[in-house]
Order: sequence, then C-alpha cells, then structure tokens
Amino acid sequence: MSQENGQGSVVPEVVAPLETFDAWLPCPKKRLVLFDIDGTLIRCGRQVGPMFLESMQTVFGSRGDWRGYSFSGKTDPQIVVELLERAGHDRDQVLGRLDEIRELYLPRIERELDPDQMELLPGVMPLLEELQQQPDTHLGLVTGNWERGGRAKLAAFGLNRFFDFGGFGEDGPARADLPPAAIERAVAKAGRSFAAEEVLVVGDTANDVGCAHAHGIQCLAVTTGFVKAEVLRAAGADWIVSSLDHLGMDA
Ligand SMILES: [Mg+2]
Repeated sequence: MSQENGQGSVVPEVVAPLETFDAWLPCPKKRLVLFDIDGTLIRCGRQVGPMFLESMQTVFGSRGDWRGYSFSGKTDPQIVVELLERAGHDRDQVLGRLDEIRELYLPRIERELDPDQMELLPGVMPLLEELQQQPDTHLGLVTGNWERGGRAKLAAFGLNRFFDFGGFGEDGPARADLPPAAIERAVAKAGRSFAAEEVLVVGDTANDVGCAHAHGIQCLAVTTGFVKAEVLRAAGADWIVSSLDHLGMDA
C-alpha cells in the first residue's frame, strides 16, 4: 500500500537545510539505517490503492470507509482494520480475516504492479550504493507494507539487493512495532547489538518520525512523499531534506 492520498504529483519543496547527511553519514555512530519505502525510496502512482481496496472488498464485501482517510505512514494491517472499523465492522472479526485479505493482495501486487507508473526517487540509488560500501554499516527496511508487497515494489528498481531484513506490516499493526523487529533481525545478521543512537530511520511521514522516537531513534525525514516539511518539523523530525539527492555524496 502506498501512502498516497490521490493528490497527484507533488514537487518537493526546498527545505531550509537543518543539516545534511554530512552531519551523520561520516559519523561512526550511525551503523544501522532503516528506510521506509513509499514516498522515501520510490513512488508507485495510484495503482496500488485499488488492488488493496478490492482485496478488502472480496473478503468483507466492503472497501471500508476510505473517503477522507489518511493512509500516510500506516501499516497495511492498520489500514485494513481502521477502514473496516470506520464502516462498522468488528475489530476482532477483521483481525481474524486479515490473512485472507493479505493472501489476495500479495499475489496481485506481485503480478500486476506496473513499473511504468512508478518512480525511483532522486538520489536513492547512489545513496544506497554508498551506504552499502561503508564499513560496518547495515541497511534495513521499516515499512508498513506486508513484506512481499514491499519487496514487489522494490523489485521494480532492483532495490531488494540492498535490504536483507526489515520490519514489515506483519510485525504491526502499529508502526512503532516495526523498528524493534528490524533491529532484532539486524542483530541476528550482523552479530552485534545496536544502541538507539547508532540507528537512523529515514521516512516521509509523521508516523515514521513517531515510530523512531518511540524507541529513542533519530529520524531523517524527506519531503518526497505527500507530507509537508512543517508537518514533519512539528512531528519532531531530527533532519528534514527535500530529497535524498546528493546527500552524503561528498562526505
Ligand atoms: Mg512512506
């Protein structure tokens, strides 16, 4: 699921630089960088929403009450539960059939996602390539997508090779549940622990900021999604940048 709200394309505004990645990229303390997907690494256009809502329709006979609903930074299971609760469905009943929706949606997005409607956001590829080469630096995901859905999106641009692990919608439904899941997998892979000050979350919504700060982790926010800088600033983002383009390249 993308965080799009059907507002169409948004030109990232130029944000007065708080600091750039220079502030942390060479910093030996940041050893685990956890990226959101939608609005941060890529954009999917408007194609994902219908696939998601139609899967709900098939199982529950309802798309839920989605008008005016903000998908921004929410996990896939959270979206299902909230939309159907708004339409009067019982929460426990929805949770009990969540897997049915997931099993319809995942094969569909894997089969039907059209890369021509998608966008790799500026600076993402060079940044990931640079971070991957940094010694003792580990890259992971923190995304509300169910894992196969998120990986289908990343596959359109060959980005899965950067991410062996992450926290996903299966670890939710609250986004704050995701960073600990990602960190636990990072520890298993790296064979070392990560203190909160060694971790950075990169995301595009106030929920990304919130899920990081819930665990004492800093958040770099980007305005390449649909959330304005002032909202991210009000949420307490530690850094705000208009895109990942060129960040860290001169570090
Ligand atoms: Mg996002």
